[in-house]
Amino acid sequence: MRDTILRGGIVLDPESGFQDTADVLIRGNEIEEIGRDIRARGAEEIEVDGLYVLPGLIDMHVHLREPGQEDKETIETGRLSAVKGGFTSIVCKANTGQIIDRPEMVDFIHFRAEETPGPNVFPVGAVTKSLKGRWLAMIGEMARAGVVALSDDGSSVYDTEMMREALLYAKRFNLPVISHTEDTTLTEGGSINAGFISFRMGLEGIPAESERIHITRDCLLARDTGAKLHIAHCSTRKGIEEVKKAKRNGIDVTVETAPHYFALNEEAVGDFETNAKMKPPLRSEDDRQAVVKALKEGDIDIISSDHAPHTIPDKDTVFELASFGIVGLETTLSLIITYLIEPGTISPLKAFSYITYKPANRLGLDKKGRLREGFDADITVIDMNREVIFDTFVSKGQNSPFRGKRLNGRAEYVFVGGKIVLKRGELVYG
Ligand SMILES: [Zn+2]
Repeated sequence: MRDTILRGGIVLDPESGFQDTADVLIRGNEIEEIGRDIRARGAEEIEVDGLYVLPGLIDMHVHLREPGQEDKETIETGRLSAVKGGFTSIVCKANTGQIIDRPEMVDFIHFRAEETPGPNVFPVGAVTKSLKGRWLAMIGEMARAGVVALSDDGSSVYDTEMMREALLYAKRFNLPVISHTEDTTLTEGGSINAGFISFRMGLEGIPAESERIHITRDCLLARDTGAKLHIAHCSTRKGIEEVKKAKRNGIDVTVETAPHYFALNEEAVGDFETNAKMKPPLRSEDDRQAVVKALKEGDIDIISSDHAPHTIPDKDTVFELASFGIVGLETTLSLIITYLIEPGTISPLKAFSYITYKPANRLGLDKKGRLREGFDADITVIDMNREVIFDTFVSKGQNSPFRGKRLNGRAEYVFVGGKIVLKRGELVYG
């Protein structure tokens, strides 16, 4: 493989705080050198003047649907969608058609993800067998097969004793447990945020307490067990406050939010817009502002897309029956730029920390998330000023409230392990 020089970009490494105009030399699958006026005989030169050169982006909350729900997404289409959105590593959840609750399933995901070049796929193993909440899944065997975390995401682990057992077990393998925090006794039948809008629309509401109760419970269990806990898709002021309190008490907990919780509020549901229906639901304007503030102040650790592709019939139905979730791999970067960086709320270094070294650190992803010599040549080059309007997505899922919206910023080049997979915004494989 020829060496590549990315010439004259604005190089950003959120972990070290480095931000300067520099060249980056890629040799083999590693970052060989970062500096001024790099020379390397025979290297391919790519001018990236005015573009931002970042560590490859990492999305730690993706639903790839395969095996078992290939009408919604496949590992291949999900990976293509990830590349288009600038991601070089994605972490896929266990609630596929056939559940990732045993080592053969983990092997299957790895096998499929290695068939073509493209983003690294890191599977999450289920906490409980078939996500039923009754018996622990084959955690030890899945740990040996290479899962990076455990989660029943899509569902909460309802049984408190089961969650405690899972945390104890996960700790033995140094794996974080990712909690989908939902008290289902409070959310049953609910479609949108509980409040004036749900009342006016005649829909069952999902209260903020549903999230808060499970965050509180799981933080207490994490303290009790000393295990690593990660809170998925935090959507409310109350939830953020609970995590903050837990961190102050020394509990090993991190928390993520998703772009729709800082870009939209419950009003986006508008006239029964099923593409604005997800779990947890879009919340109040006060909650949205709390999410933005927490990102500004570093009280939220990670931004993940919660990419949840669905078919058209899944969404083109009565609101209460429509599936929960939206696609996010292709819009996350533009939403971060448009809603957090452009208004000057958060610096690029801080905003990009949430999708680079912070998820890499939490999951223990070796040599990822940093733009540094000797690290993997997973690199994303971004045009921050490029206007984008999403008409269709590379993902099989077209379910997004951001379709047709004018946003700013997109990935121009993506390298995974030194191989180019996105060039001038176009896929170069698949
Ligand atoms: Zn979830």
